[in-house]
Amino acid sequence: MIITRILAPNPGPFTGAGTNSYVISTGGEAVIVDPGPLIDSHLEAIRRAVAELTVVGVLVTHHHLDHCPAANPLAEEYGVPSYGFGSYGGFQAISRLADGDVVHVGTEVIEVLSTPGHTPDSLCFAVGDGVFTGDTIKAGTTVVVEDMSAYMKTLARLADLAPARIFPGHGELIDDPPSVIAGYIAHRRGREEQVVAALAGGSLTTEEIVAAVYPELEPTLLILATQSATAHLIKLVDDGRVSRDGEEWTLR
Ligand SMILES: [Zn+2]
Repeated sequence: MIITRILAPNPGPFTGAGTNSYVISTGGEAVIVDPGPLIDSHLEAIRRAVAELTVVGVLVTHHHLDHCPAANPLAEEYGVPSYGFGSYGGFQAISRLADGDVVHVGTEVIEVLSTPGHTPDSLCFAVGDGVFTGDTIKAGTTVVVEDMSAYMKTLARLADLAPARIFPGHGELIDDPPSVIAGYIAHRRGREEQVVAALAGGSLTTEEIVAAVYPELEPTLLILATQSATAHLIKLVDDGRVSRDGEEWTLR
C-alpha cells in the first residue's frame, strides 16, 4: 500500500499550510481521501497522482469547505462514488457510510469509524496501522469542536484503537498517535477544569467565562473561544456538573 499526500494551496489560520488530500493505492487501484477545495492546480496534482491507477472511490471525512468541494466533481470524472456520512451541511455523498462499513481498494480494506465532535458528520478511515482523521485530529492547528461530549468519546475511541500513524487533514504525518491523543484529551480536560474553576466564584455568563478562561485573547479569536467555551459548558450540563438559566451558567 502506498499513501501519497497532496497539499492543497489553501493555507490559513484554520487550515495551517493547507488541506491534506491523500491517495491510498494498492494493486493498481486507488482511493482519494478529502480532495479538498476546487482549485485547478490542486485537482491537476491529484490527477497526476492517480494517473497510472484505477480510481475506485473518493472518500470524504466531513462537509467543511476545505475538505469536500472537489469530491463529487472528481467522483463524476472517474465514474466512481463519493463516500461520506451522507447529506450534511451542503455536501451530499453519493454513497453513505456508517460506523463499521468498509471500502475496498485493491487488497486493502478501509474501515469506517463514525467520529463525531468536530462536526456531527465527521468520519475517520482506518487502513493498515494508520488512520485518516480529517479535522478530528490535526497537526499544528487547533480543532474547533461542535459537540464536546461526543468529541471526548471519539478521542477515547481513537486512543483505544492505538494506531501507529495518523494522517491528519492538516499538518504533518503523526507518528506518535498515543501521546498526541493523550495530549488532546489532557488539553480538553484542563480547559474543562478552567471553566469549572471560573464558575466556582458564582454564576457567570458565557462572555464572562470566556474572559476568565482566555485572559489574553486576541479579538480575532473571540468567536472561536466563545464556541469552544460553549461546547465545554454544554458538556458540563450533560455531565450534570453545571446548570443553565437563561444567559447564566452555575455550578451544581
Ligand atoms: Zn473541518
